[in-house]
Amino acid sequence: MSDIQYLSLVCQVDETLSPFRLSHEQLQLVKARMRAGLEAGLKRKGSTAIKMLPSFVYRTPDGTEHGKYLALDLGGTNFRALLVNFKKGLQQNTRLHHKIYTIPLEIMQGTGEELFDHIAECISDFLDYMGLKNARLPAGFTFSFPCEQTALDTGTLVSWTKGFKATDCEGHDVVSMLREAIKRRNDFDLDIAAVVNDTVGTMMSCAYEDPQCEVGLIAGTGTNVCYMEELKNIEKTEQSTGQKMCINTEWGGLGDDGSLDDIITPYDVEVDQTSINPGKQRFEKLTSGMYLGEVVRQVLLDLTRGGLLFRGHVTEALKTAGIFQTKYLSQIERYKKLHQHQSILQGLGLDSTCNDSIIVKQVCGTVSRRAAQLCGAGMAAVVDKIRENRGLDHLNVTVGVDGALYKLHPHFSGVLQETARVLAPQCNVTFLPSEEGSGKGAALITAVARQRGEMELA
Ligand code: BGC
Ligand code: MG
Repeated sequence: MSDIQYLSLVCQVDETLSPFRLSHEQLQLVKARMRAGLEAGLKRKGSTAIKMLPSFVYRTPDGTEHGKYLALDLGGTNFRALLVNFKKGLQQNTRLHHKIYTIPLEIMQGTGEELFDHIAECISDFLDYMGLKNARLPAGFTFSFPCEQTALDTGTLVSWTKGFKATDCEGHDVVSMLREAIKRRNDFDLDIAAVVNDTVGTMMSCAYEDPQCEVGLIAGTGTNVCYMEELKNIEKTEQSTGQKMCINTEWGGLGDDGSLDDIITPYDVEVDQTSINPGKQRFEKLTSGMYLGEVVRQVLLDLTRGGLLFRGHVTEALKTAGIFQTKYLSQIERYKKLHQHQSILQGLGLDSTCNDSIIVKQVCGTVSRRAAQLCGAGMAAVVDKIRENRGLDHLNVTVGVDGALYKLHPHFSGVLQETARVLAPQCNVTFLPSEEGSGKGAALITAVARQRGEMELA
């Protein structure tokens, strides 16, 4: 390839990627729309793009939590069972045992009964493994999907997200479904005290270590944020106890009413249309692990069809949905050497020249940078809201974070933090990665609830 040809190639790729490069003004608009979405969701019952679901968690832990709890965690890709032992005043001494179970695709997308039977079977296995079959432990259930709650221990699934699609679950109380599955087995019993979103669990587990933690963020298979809101602002619930309540924002729904149409590219439209929930979770589809690889693949397909990549050959591999998992994006962006990129692509069945692998890396970098910036803009809206709620000129706040995109991607966390800093200059935001956050948090919430119960009885 001559120099001129190469320059022209670079320019054409650059032009293809330009709609992914957001200006400061555009990011500011996203922040403003996120803020408007948060406010609308707090006011109105029923379907708003951002759901703003009350969690019935009124405070973060204070370190007096103690006892043994079971935490059950159904996330984006697997199910985890944990046994957590909190010792009063000895935060470091939290003991933790856990086991991870994969959820086969046919179960994610089978019937609700099969899904909950599978979960109950995993719990049964874990209790056997721990020798706790007869203990009837208090349990917290982390369920990482939008649930309409009327109490801490009931949650009606609003709609599945990510890769889940099991039938007969939407509109049903997931705690009852789990209790029924346990009853059907009839080989152990549990006292399920709380159903908890993973963001809420993450916030709680980080708040156990840092009392300034009042926000929880997940940047993984899916994306979402929760934060402590003033009760008086939550117009859709008539609650009187306490001053604050944690709200599960479900910010992944931003844009479901068309409010992001000006930044959504044709590649994003394609990813949305070929997903299992077209028209839903539009913000999530721009920002989370389940979709970023698909956005990248759509761009690569377009470049290949235009003869700019892979010698113009659209191979079966490139046509395969889901080949670019987050871990490969992270690797492609982490490695510096071309032959490393080439061998990753090779492993995915994509034969690449040097130029090909430079272009692929550029596409990955651009798509993941946009994701991190959008999350940063959303975060700026959340922390500024907390600051204004309190009438402060300046706010120090900690955000508990979990998810593979945040933890494993080489640039995501840096770009996210930088964007939040620039767009919310009156807030000093510290990001605290959580350890086993969502599960441990559910155990903590159960502990807080049980202790409150004890206090009320005393
Ligand atoms: C779900 C949220 C969850 C997030 C992260 C989203 O798809 O709707 O409830 O918190 O994924 O797991
Ligand atoms: Mg999780």
